[in-house]
Amino acid sequence: MKVTIDLDKCIMAGECVYNHPWLFEFNDDNQASVKVAVLTTDEQQLGARQAREVCPSGAIRLADD
Ligand code: SF4
Repeated sequence: MKVTIDLDKCIMAGECVYNHPWLFEFNDDNQASVKVAVLTTDEQQLGARQAREVCPSGAIRLADD
């Protein structure tokens, strides 16, 4: 599974960074970004799904590959 953030939608609310700091961060440009390229474990994928559910702007996208 891969996680991406649609920066056109992201409103910088920070829920993803606050709740899942192992997966998201604010980068040097103050944009939310993904820290882990590919999520391989069930625990990681569950965390990504939870982050997508609570993102207030629907900016987090998940893709299986
Ligand atoms: S939770 Fe959504 S809106 Fe907030 S910083 Fe993360 S991606 Fe952006």
